[in-house]
Amino acid sequence: MSKPHTREQWQARATALHIRSQAFIDGRYVDAASGKTFDCVSPADGRVVVAVAECEAEDVNRAVTAARKAFESGVWADQSPVKRKRVLVKFAQLIDAHGEELALVESLDMGKPVGDALAVDVAATVRCMNWTGEAIDKVYDEVAPTGHDELGLVTREPLGVIGAIVPWNFPMLMASWKIAPALAMGNSVVLKPSEKSPLTAIRLAELAIEAGIPPGVLNVIPGFGLGAGEPLALHMDVDGIVFTGSTAVGKHLLQCAGRSNLKRAYMECGGKSPNIVFADAPDLKSAAIAAAGAIFYNQGEVCTAASRLLVERSVKDEFLAMVVEAGRKMQPRHPFEPGAPMGAMVDEVQMQRVLGFIDKGHAEGARLALGGKRVLQETGGYYIEPTIFDEVAHEMTISREEIFGPVLSAIAFENEDEALRIANDSPYGLAAGVWTNDLSRAHRVARKLRAGSVWVNYWDGGDMTAPFGGYKQSGNGRDKSLHAFDKYTEVKATWINLKP
Ligand code: NAD
Repeated sequence: MSKPHTREQWQARATALHIRSQAFIDGRYVDAASGKTFDCVSPADGRVVVAVAECEAEDVNRAVTAARKAFESGVWADQSPVKRKRVLVKFAQLIDAHGEELALVESLDMGKPVGDALAVDVAATVRCMNWTGEAIDKVYDEVAPTGHDELGLVTREPLGVIGAIVPWNFPMLMASWKIAPALAMGNSVVLKPSEKSPLTAIRLAELAIEAGIPPGVLNVIPGFGLGAGEPLALHMDVDGIVFTGSTAVGKHLLQCAGRSNLKRAYMECGGKSPNIVFADAPDLKSAAIAAAGAIFYNQGEVCTAASRLLVERSVKDEFLAMVVEAGRKMQPRHPFEPGAPMGAMVDEVQMQRVLGFIDKGHAEGARLALGGKRVLQETGGYYIEPTIFDEVAHEMTISREEIFGPVLSAIAFENEDEALRIANDSPYGLAAGVWTNDLSRAHRVARKLRAGSVWVNYWDGGDMTAPFGGYKQSGNGRDKSLHAFDKYTEVKATWINLKP
């Protein structure tokens, strides 16, 4: 089938889709034990796409039991790394082969432009699965540097059963950042996707089986945070809980780990990332276009969204005018429209939450420079225009709290020290950007920024080869790269007496 090129062609493809909507436990699709379902609504037009199985504690038990049984049997954990590699690489190929379908489902489910879902979400998921699979027969264990009368072996072993709880903004990609390293290291997984975007995770489970991942090794339980996520986090037979989502829920899950079996717990959480533009930036116009893309891409629903724009006062007005011009061109459109720069907000709740922050911006005295309203209401969907506030004081709510929508706060600074003070004065520390022509300053500022990723003279660089995660309340672990394996393994020391 040729690739759709128009909105109508994508729509026709969507109408013809058979969308999987059950839980996936022990290698097959099943209803929730209670028979309950919840509606999955398309944010593009407010219509129900499909009713999805609503898993609860009993389903969590079923999935954990299946995962445990698969783990203890050794059917996956005891495979040689090269065999697990082949399966994960095949999994990546299958995701790639079903890329258009997965992109379409992602777009339908959470409102992002289908072109972005294909070019970014699918492509990055394939790369994650492939890179991680390729890595596992190239990592060695260690021999401790001991004396000659003993031998110390330092080996990695899988944790066992991993519970993975993920958000809705990059549903499939965030799931793959967890399941790829977890499976690579030989664990079994119970994945709980967000109730706002469960569909691609449900489909991935079937492709995993087709790739050769044995039944019970990857289970998917759609459901709500309290109904399905919490029983998973509290489960006494889950060895590790890995999470991407809000800081509030991340903190709660750490408590769940403490209240239950001290399971390993790694949280990747929110952000309020500063993008610092000095007057000597190499090209202010390009920096302005990048600054707009860094906040409005994916409707601003990005953990690393550059939501705080810090600009040196001498160029602030000139620079902000260019950001406004770039932002004005990024109006939301139906997610199936080719080239739509933004789609719909994930649901009505999120849209109202973002509009609430915009109201706060007005009330606390920031000056609206662009947007500020809901648009395309007649479609029944949840769209917000690109919004920019100028004259934002650092103390204002819109400068301090994560909005997770297309709202930019511009703040002027006088010098490097002030820029750093404002940038670091946040409970978050996920990402930051620096724009300057001064090499020494770029290094100096990058080093002082308390953030897990720093980008110099661009935004959002990186790939599978480097770790991703946050300082401070943005998280306590790292996804991607070989560092991700640390979350999914125990390290064992085995001592052998060599004395005669
Ligand atoms: P959320 O915290 O509301 O939900 C995330 C997941 O947790 C969902 O699956 C949800 O059902 C589940 N959950 C909610 N309450 C729970 C509970 N009591 N027990 C167990 N599970 C529970 O976050 P969200 O709104 O889905 O996603 C947005 C957040 O994710 C933002 O803060 C964003 O910055 C963050 N995020 C971070 C990264 C990163 O890598 N650091 C990446 C993407 C998104």
